[in-house]
Amino acid sequence: MSCLFCKIVAGEVPAKRVHEDEELVAFEDINPQAPLHVLVIPKRHISTLNDMTAADDAIVGQMARRAAAIARERGFDGSGYRTVLNCNSDAGQTVFHIHLHLLAGRRLAWPPG
Ligand code: AMP
Ligand code: ZN
Repeated sequence: MSCLFCKIVAGEVPAKRVHEDEELVAFEDINPQAPLHVLVIPKRHISTLNDMTAADDAIVGQMARRAAAIARERGFDGSGYRTVLNCNSDAGQTVFHIHLHLLAGRRLAWPPG
């Protein structure tokens, strides 16, 4: 198993977990781009959005709802937050196990760079 995020799921690489359930893990990004920067990942390995099938529909909903729950817990539901799923090189994907970025706590520019 060479995937970094599978190793985080397995506990072989340390991470500051903020949530775990049967399907998901959420942990703080090691290089935060905002005061709150959490990654929400499925425990099951899926490399990119391109690899998702109808069988994965539920997991994306769980990832989005978990991001919203974490934002709410941290008090950012009213001020706002951004969720991002990067896919492949033009979007800057560097870890090939899908992850939903949750960013909050500062004004985020749009369009993104
Ligand atoms: P992406 O560029 O969308 O593939 O995002 C990968 C994210 O994973 C980046 O924001 C990295 O800072 C983050 N990252 C890489 N290694 C680790 C790690 N060991 N623990 C937590 N976050 C990580
Ligand atoms: Zn993986």
